[in-house]
Amino acid sequence: MKTSHSLVLATRNPGKLREFRRLLESLDPVTGWLLADLTSFHVPDVEENGETFAENARIKALHAASHTGLVCLGEDSGLEVDALGGEPGVRSHRYSPSGDDDDNNELLLHRLRGFRRQLRTARYRCAIAVARPGTVFVEGSGTVEGWITEDYRGKNGFGYDPLFFSCQLGKTLGEASDDEKDSVSHRRKALEMILPGLRAYLSKSHTDPREEGYPC
Ligand code: IMP
Repeated sequence: MKTSHSLVLATRNPGKLREFRRLLESLDPVTGWLLADLTSFHVPDVEENGETFAENARIKALHAASHTGLVCLGEDSGLEVDALGGEPGVRSHRYSPSGDDDDNNELLLHRLRGFRRQLRTARYRCAIAVARPGTVFVEGSGTVEGWITEDYRGKNGFGYDPLFFSCQLGKTLGEASDDEKDSVSHRRKALEMILPGLRAYLSKSHTDPREEGYPC
């Protein structure tokens, strides 16, 4: 019989939910992953006031787990541009005043105006933490290297993807197919890192309730 595991993603970003669904299906086709995001629960927003992606991932996972009582995966990710001292970094989502993807991209292009290609190097970074109420039990991270183009290329993906040229793929992530992005992405690498620990935890808590403090 096919094992299935339920997991709540501590996000309301539909782009991330789509990517996690695809990635889990491709990295672990043997398990039936039942994913839900926070749009299915009453969880108040939490302030993402960590100084690193890893801290924010933990904040999101613990907050969602404490409100749902379920195992929750917190993910924080963003873009680090070398010429801008690592900006927008943990502020990637709220880089422009509106926080809108188009405005964030325009601001990025504006800040890099006049920088030649060799100075436009950047990377996406992703941190993942998975928690049950009160405890983070597995963490991982991943990066993908590239540079920021001078103009928009492609309409796939989300966020900064039309401006992020992947060195490995030889095109922007806006031009890449879903499969191509998944083959190199920061999110894939972080998920690959946590998957064995996550699966082991979920299998154990299904088969051995004593681990969860039940009387027998
Ligand atoms: P978060 O929801 O606070 O983690 O914000 C992450 C932000 O970083 C997103 O809103 C995007 O602006 C950016 N970002 C992270 N990962 C990606 C990606 O794979 N493609 C494009 N933009 C990304």
